[in-house]
Amino acid sequence: EKYVYFFGKNQSEGKKEMKELLGGKGANLAEMAEIGVPVPPGFTISTEVCDLYYKNNKKHTQEILDQIETNLKKLEESIGKTLGNPEDPLLVSVRSGAAQSMPGMMDTVLNLGLNDAAVEGMAKKTGNERFAWDSYRRFMQMFGNVVMGIKSHKFEAVLETIKETKGVDLDTDLTVEDLKDVVKGYKEVYQKERGTSFPEDAREQLQMSVDAVFGSWNNERAIIYRRMNDIKGLLGTAVSVQAMVFGNMGETSGTGVAFTRNPSTGENLMYGEFLMNAQGEDVVAGIRTPRPISQLEKVMPDCYKQFIEISDKLESHYKDMQDMEFTIQEGKLFFLQTRTGKRTAAAAVRIAVEMAEDNSITKEEAIMRVDPAALDQLLHPQLDAIAKQKAELLAKGLPASPGAAVGQAVFTAEKAKQEKEMNNKNVILVRLETSPEDIEGMDAAKGILTARGGMTSHAAVVARGMGKCCVSGCADIKVDEANKQFIVNGLTIKEGDYITLDGSTGEIFNGQIPVTESELSGDFAKLISWADEFRTLGIRTNADTPKDAKMALKFGAEGIGLCRTEHMFFEGERIKAMREMILAEDKAGRERALAKILPYQKADFKGLFEVMGDKPVTIRLLDPPLHEFLPTKESEIKELAEEMNVTVEKLNSTIEDLHEFNPMLGHRGCRLGVFYPEITEMQARAIFEAAKETGVKAEVMIPLVGAMGEFQNQKELIIKVAEELGLKRDEYLVGTMIEVPRGALTADKIAEEAEFFSFGTNDLTQMGCGFSRDDAGKFLKKYVELGIYDKDPFQVLDQEGVGQLVEIATTKGRSTNPKIKIGICGEHGGEPSSIEFCHRTGLDYVSCSPFRVPIARLAAAQAAIKNK
Ligand code: PEP
Ligand code: MG
Repeated sequence: EKYVYFFGKNQSEGKKEMKELLGGKGANLAEMAEIGVPVPPGFTISTEVCDLYYKNNKKHTQEILDQIETNLKKLEESIGKTLGNPEDPLLVSVRSGAAQSMPGMMDTVLNLGLNDAAVEGMAKKTGNERFAWDSYRRFMQMFGNVVMGIKSHKFEAVLETIKETKGVDLDTDLTVEDLKDVVKGYKEVYQKERGTSFPEDAREQLQMSVDAVFGSWNNERAIIYRRMNDIKGLLGTAVSVQAMVFGNMGETSGTGVAFTRNPSTGENLMYGEFLMNAQGEDVVAGIRTPRPISQLEKVMPDCYKQFIEISDKLESHYKDMQDMEFTIQEGKLFFLQTRTGKRTAAAAVRIAVEMAEDNSITKEEAIMRVDPAALDQLLHPQLDAIAKQKAELLAKGLPASPGAAVGQAVFTAEKAKQEKEMNNKNVILVRLETSPEDIEGMDAAKGILTARGGMTSHAAVVARGMGKCCVSGCADIKVDEANKQFIVNGLTIKEGDYITLDGSTGEIFNGQIPVTESELSGDFAKLISWADEFRTLGIRTNADTPKDAKMALKFGAEGIGLCRTEHMFFEGERIKAMREMILAEDKAGRERALAKILPYQKADFKGLFEVMGDKPVTIRLLDPPLHEFLPTKESEIKELAEEMNVTVEKLNSTIEDLHEFNPMLGHRGCRLGVFYPEITEMQARAIFEAAKETGVKAEVMIPLVGAMGEFQNQKELIIKVAEELGLKRDEYLVGTMIEVPRGALTADKIAEEAEFFSFGTNDLTQMGCGFSRDDAGKFLKKYVELGIYDKDPFQVLDQEGVGQLVEIATTKGRSTNPKIKIGICGEHGGEPSSIEFCHRTGLDYVSCSPFRVPIARLAAAQAAIKNK
């Protein structure tokens, strides 16, 4: 068995296709070395070892240990130095890397191999004593934190105290003697915190670090990150051990991070940041604010030129935008990493379109490159341009992740989470800088604002991944986390005060600015129109009002797949008439009440038909049970409160807490029309009169049908009204929702009468899984955490279970009525994986909310390309 893979010029045992085994980082290091990119040599311990490590009680077999030792020897030979050698030590980095990138979530140890003797050797050998001691103190801090779990601030405190005593601001201003004091202080921290001394043996340091990196696979933030990003089924992380190159050897050394294109906008311009005389963590942690990559041209013109050549080569080799890490050691350039760069949705679209247009990739590849769900970001709010001009600009930071966010300032991740979960408030998380521990708070916040850090800081990277508005590196705000406030231009913004962020410009405003929706244009429109060339599914929308319908048309909807008529009954005069109908003694009384609603309904439908022109419109008859139209009683609550000797408020809140809306099924759906045919008749009349006046071919949809008899009963009423109005049978359609399991199982019978089916997968999930739509939220999160369900089945179609009902109904329906038109109008109609399922199952169309129409168009094209 091979567990460890060497990499280096002409020596790589891995290649880019081996991500599952070597992790993205390991596979790409091997590939880069092979194609002639300057990469310091090293070796990668495979993800299989991580898996075995956990299976084997956090131990390694002798075979694995031997392979690590063999590769270490090979590395020592190739560099000509040995680990722990007191004269001239080899130093290595130990870094994590899973098959899917999880930036900043797992651990890294740099400068490994230093001890009291080696540091002296390194100082002598390099003639740079300051550099040696700086590396040593960095190593101790990282090792102490990552491997031994000592909190970073314990080390920071030592460093700060010494900086204060010496009266210097920057780490780089500390002298050799100061750094020796820092090391001494760190050793004391170590002894105090862990009760042992710092390990001097370099091989012991290495083994401990390798295991710590494997251990970080299951640290809390990595687990949360995988859950949030739906990363499943991986063996674990690989560990790459690589010869160190140093960006902190002086003013001709440096380090940086760069993207071959702008990850925020997608513009085809090298984009990145660097710091001279620094190591990687200085850039990412955002402690010093780095300089834009273009300035490297002035500082080190040769390195810059070489850097541009190599990054161009990497982009064309990988045929995608790359995110690279590099280090310059005394004027010599090294690449430490390349990976497909994370990007905003806007950037993803622009890069895909531009690469297809210059023939680097095909149209199909361009379509497959963009995650449909991420398009949400593009359809997301922008600040209202006029209101923005009048607003008070507080400061400007870096435009780290686009979009707009309005909310109340909070200063800790916990507070952000709490305000969101308990009070459903919109908050902006304001931090000096964010760290991976803040991830849940960032997720809960509407937007993120940081005082420090560049475009590649943790906050920026994570926010972009989340599609969340973020302004980073705003040095003009003085964040006072202890007092929960920040000061800008003499103005104090306290916790709870409203601020507004524009993540596309980096602007921060006082107060709340209205937001406007964005539109489908430019590259986005182009990509989506390409998608239309490939998709076979039709895309309709769920819209109840002319306004929604117009919006959906703008986004490319080809019809209305579901118009819910419920809300039409709750407006002003109509609810009164509805209550009158419910309370009426007889049919005549009910008809009188309904007659008042008819003209409103007719106007509703006319409005919709006019907007949709000759596109199909499916209108569903009324669905909710009658009690929804009535107020709820209080007198009984009062009585019990007295008997139990508690306040009415207390009892009310207990009742509220305990209340469960178990699947509300009673007089819902077609039952309403079966018992109150006048309602069906009134609605049918309103639909057909509106249809006649606009020349539209209406599709009348009967909800919640479980038995053919129900459908038949309602269909007859509808046809009767149509005939009364002089409509011919081919001038309208009558169909049904399939949303009751029995309806799905007897779809062959129903299809003999129905002209179309639309899967109401919300109800079909409710009844298929036996979960109430209204209170399943209470346990579904836990169910997903426990792995009982893979995903929340109300968001992502449960293909294994509910999906079978869809398949059965489709097959059975077509068996008796081959021409039957079949669509879906549950929430799943706008969810990419469910759309793919609909494509495979052979549905004719999906119908989703207006904002998801572009997402559905792209997802449908991807489904067609994938299942060619
Ligand atoms: C459904 O059940 O999937 C559906 C579309 O209807 P509603 O959500 O209105 O019950
Ligand atoms: Mg339903």
